[in-house]
Amino acid sequence: MLKHKSALITGSTSGIGLGIARAFAEQGARVMLNGFGDAAAIERTRDELAAKTGAEVRYHGADMSRPEAVMALVAATEAAFGGVDILVNNAGVQCVAPVEEFPPEQWERIRAIVLDASFHATRAVLPGMKQRNWGRILNLVSVHGLVASPFKSAYVAAKHGQIGLTRTVALELAETGITCNAICPGYVRTPLVEGQIEAQAVAHGLPRERVIREVILAAQPSKRFVEVEEIAALALFLCGDAARSITGAAIPVDGGWTAR
Ligand code: NAD
Repeated sequence: MLKHKSALITGSTSGIGLGIARAFAEQGARVMLNGFGDAAAIERTRDELAAKTGAEVRYHGADMSRPEAVMALVAATEAAFGGVDILVNNAGVQCVAPVEEFPPEQWERIRAIVLDASFHATRAVLPGMKQRNWGRILNLVSVHGLVASPFKSAYVAAKHGQIGLTRTVALELAETGITCNAICPGYVRTPLVEGQIEAQAVAHGLPRERVIREVILAAQPSKRFVEVEEIAALALFLCGDAARSITGAAIPVDGGWTAR
């Protein structure tokens, strides 16, 4: 389905980004991975993905908190693949604290990686997409782009901002073959969340299963994690021709969280 397409997925060395990279490579896309981690482990992931799918898979370690690094990542992807057909703004980080105690440097960091990087990457890929009159921009947002939770001021603000950016870009490009959409997951089972389960189990002195149900999934009516593969399947659908009229949407994948 994605043969002859190239995809840049930020923050794709783990979790949701890696799941999307896998799904895209399986459909024949050339994939640029990005993100942090152990260099040997990243190279193994890249190598395995390429071997298993037969797709061209590359890696660039740009730090998405730095605008010039974001520009360099887009330029490197264009140089490697001749263009960026699909951009997935996925890199993200979290910090939890009451607003009056929220460290300003964490506010800056979250805003830079989540919101500013989405702007810089979108800005950089658009000239090429416009030239080819085809493109897909997917912003991996969160239910926290639509509703808030306490103690996550920077994350909620940056994710709300990403939805505003999604809608604006979609309107500007509405008469072209380029769409821009936001995917808004509830809790997804990723290494990030696995770590939170362990930490909360210790903090509350509760068994793992109770932490999942009563703490982590308290706001998620399905009481079930979203799986990475479900997000990847939606991302794939949004990249297809059947989704060409879906633009400016913020699509919840949240087990009913935002239906409340
Ligand atoms: P993760 O921690 O597994 O992956 C995050 C990725 O971002 C990693 O590859 C990491 O190396 C990369 N990254 C972090 N800082 C970076 C930087 N400065 N430059 C480049 N890469 C950087 O997390 P995940 O759960 O897969 O989250 C992916 C996205 O989905 C994030 O934007 C997150 O906010 C969003 N999200 C996650 C959940 C969830 O429950 N896991 C729910 C809703 C939204």
